[in-house]
Amino acid sequence: MKSMNRSVILHLIRKHKQISRAEIAKKAHLTPPTVTNIVNELLEVGLVKESKVGESKGGRKPILLSMNSKSFYVVGLDIGGQKIRGVLTDLNAEVEESVSINFQKGLSKEDLLSNIKNVITSLIANSKVEKTKLLGIGIGMHGMVDHHQGVALFAPNLQLTNIPLKKELEEEFDLPVYVENDARAFALGEAWFGNGYGFENLVCINVGIGIGAGIVMNGQLYHGKNNIAGEIGHTIVDINGTKCTCGNYGCLETVASGRALVEKAKEELSNGKSSLLQDVVNKDEITGELIFQYAQKGDIVAKDILVQTGKSLGVGILNLVNFINPERVIIGGGVSKAGSYILDPIQSLIASKALTEDARKTEIVPSKLGNYATSIGAVTLVLFDLFSADPVGKGQLTIEF
Ligand SMILES: [Zn+2]
Repeated sequence: MKSMNRSVILHLIRKHKQISRAEIAKKAHLTPPTVTNIVNELLEVGLVKESKVGESKGGRKPILLSMNSKSFYVVGLDIGGQKIRGVLTDLNAEVEESVSINFQKGLSKEDLLSNIKNVITSLIANSKVEKTKLLGIGIGMHGMVDHHQGVALFAPNLQLTNIPLKKELEEEFDLPVYVENDARAFALGEAWFGNGYGFENLVCINVGIGIGAGIVMNGQLYHGKNNIAGEIGHTIVDINGTKCTCGNYGCLETVASGRALVEKAKEELSNGKSSLLQDVVNKDEITGELIFQYAQKGDIVAKDILVQTGKSLGVGILNLVNFINPERVIIGGGVSKAGSYILDPIQSLIASKALTEDARKTEIVPSKLGNYATSIGAVTLVLFDLFSADPVGKGQLTIEF
């Protein structure tokens, strides 16, 4: 109970930025002595500070409490198919230190774990933050993840299974470790620190080599019974379409991912379309980024490929707007860097075809957190445990002082 009240109080201080003890007691339905005791504990560990004196409604002016964001730090890692991006941040997810490394080909499970440990060790060493000031480590892992056990069940881009991330890292660093699927971590990060701030219901779609989404429902991550909620990349948009990596045909990923974008370009070129892209001698060097660069130079074919990809993605997003009815849809990942080429066709499809007038106004916005969105999301997994008003929903409350 005590821990839960502490979380509720921290949540209120974080949410309001400045708040008095009396306000907390009122909003949290706690007695003033309970609030005083917990606040004293928080002041003692340095997590909270007393700031300026508030407005008085007669009588003594209340002292306001605020977060001491530089009192503790968090490590967050984004483990993709080709690289690890790691950050060490303060309690506002302000990045103090970042490290990223690329994987060598044919990585074993042991190699992966030692790479991860090296990144964390470098982050801590470079930042010069004392170990006692670290709250925990968050991991946004691509593929299927058991977030309760903290195990990466299947990492398709590395062809590795059953990686006991939580157990290994807790043993190594003696800190609480939280593991989530990367798209979900990304979604939580956007909800707390990005373009989803202030919204309780969001869908955040990561469009990279593949397409994954994280769903935030009533401020909580939604997993579904078997952890596959958000696998929008494998919703079928064309039953007669091409074969997907999952074995089915015509998944959204086959028409709207970074991989699909490159395939489409190669197809257009082999059909003899006149494009600056024809100058690329080795067609395997064509990337989404290159297509975007050529589109910006005015290449019609490159522009058209991006717009077509936006339209295909729009179909998938239209389905989910009608199905989940989020307040906002946030798009991140490599493909989102193509900006309005991709976003405009999506927005216009929603604006013309979503079911109701209100749904047609659903905003489609790019990620605010950029390349480190998933790493910041991984940091947020740790902060969620500390600051969420409903830690029970998470099923764990690991951080103790
Ligand atoms: Zn599929």
